[in-house]
Amino acid sequence: MIQCNENYLKLQRRYLFREIAERVEEYQDANPGGKIIKLGIGDVTEPLAPSVAEAMHEAVDEMSEPATFRGYGPEQGYDFLRGAIVEHDYRDRGIYVERDEIFISDGSKCDTANILDILSADSVVALADPVYPVYVDTNVMAGRTGHVDAKGQYDGIYYLPCTAENGFVPDLPSRKVDIIYLCCPNNPTGTTLTRKQLKLWVDYALENMAIILFDAAYEAYVREPRVPHSIYEVDGAKRVAIEFRSFSKSAGFTGTRCAFTVVPKEIVAVSGQGRPESLNRLWNRRQTTKFNGVSYITQRGAAAVYTERGRRETQALVDYYLGNADIIRDTLTTLGLDVYGGINAPYIWVKTPGGMKSWDYFQKVLEELNVVITPGGGFGPSGEGYVRFSAFGSRDDVEEAMERFRRGGI
Ligand code: PLP
Repeated sequence: MIQCNENYLKLQRRYLFREIAERVEEYQDANPGGKIIKLGIGDVTEPLAPSVAEAMHEAVDEMSEPATFRGYGPEQGYDFLRGAIVEHDYRDRGIYVERDEIFISDGSKCDTANILDILSADSVVALADPVYPVYVDTNVMAGRTGHVDAKGQYDGIYYLPCTAENGFVPDLPSRKVDIIYLCCPNNPTGTTLTRKQLKLWVDYALENMAIILFDAAYEAYVREPRVPHSIYEVDGAKRVAIEFRSFSKSAGFTGTRCAFTVVPKEIVAVSGQGRPESLNRLWNRRQTTKFNGVSYITQRGAAAVYTERGRRETQALVDYYLGNADIIRDTLTTLGLDVYGGINAPYIWVKTPGGMKSWDYFQKVLEELNVVITPGGGFGPSGEGYVRFSAFGSRDDVEEAMERFRRGGI
């Protein structure tokens, strides 16, 4: 008899966003007619920038001509895109990253999960609570945890509570951990780490020979100069940090799929025999074996983001969503709610009124206002008592949703 991977049986219930979708569907089936406004899932709503679409059209034309057709591309990504990233995302900010440290992929979701392939199964993982659920579930799948407890936490994971008391900034672990996930700007709380706070983590990793998996999927939303765009702005980070970036939220690529991961050549892990091994080399080996690259057409579209026009147009998209975030923040603050995040991020983290459970508040807002938000408890026990509002929506929808909150007074 074939045996399944038992680690999958340890996973909790359903994936959060599937559960939300099912609850919304159930409500809609029972109450057809009313317009439901979705401020729940973090998916963009605005179309691709014209310069990106044009570059992709041109690439389709190239692929349609015998002289310019291309088959398999380099697994690590085309040089034109890696070069543009090195120049604009890093060199323009005074950070030195080389082309062969950049690996183009089809998403940060897969990269943050797949990176576990090259790290020892015995590593102790530390992650924030609340957290982007993918980090937890992929470690469960990889067999790095025991079972889940009544609170919803897995044995074997070191949780770093992020609460209003610590300003949603995780405290350094009191024991040695090996793999640390940091997400900045943060999903779900929409809060950030300053350069000074990030330095504490880099120093911890250097002292403890740990690795930081730095998820900067929302980097484009950073508005305040005290918040770093890259972990490599911090001295020493290139020896201990892998950085994940994505075009999903910066340029509307959630359906187009393109991202990249920076694996510096300085990062060294040790083998069981104590031999130093380059993680850049191992990741390259992993990608060339298990991944066949992102389509040429998509990479041409991503490269267009770095042209002068592309940067202007994609910045306008980001500004649009940040404008939505301002409206949500201001309205909910005026209504007397405790509101966090949303300044350098497209997410606003809100304490439920009267200490309501987050799923109860989700259901109340769905039923009374026909607005979908995300229950904070779905991101971990410390998210209980909070909900997440996403600024990814049309301006009209955001304004209408906020008007419903004002009228409904909840
Ligand atoms: N990382 C975080 C923190 C996210 O919130 C998301 C998407 O919502 C991702 C990564 C996934 O990005 P991608 O679309 O590149 O897979």
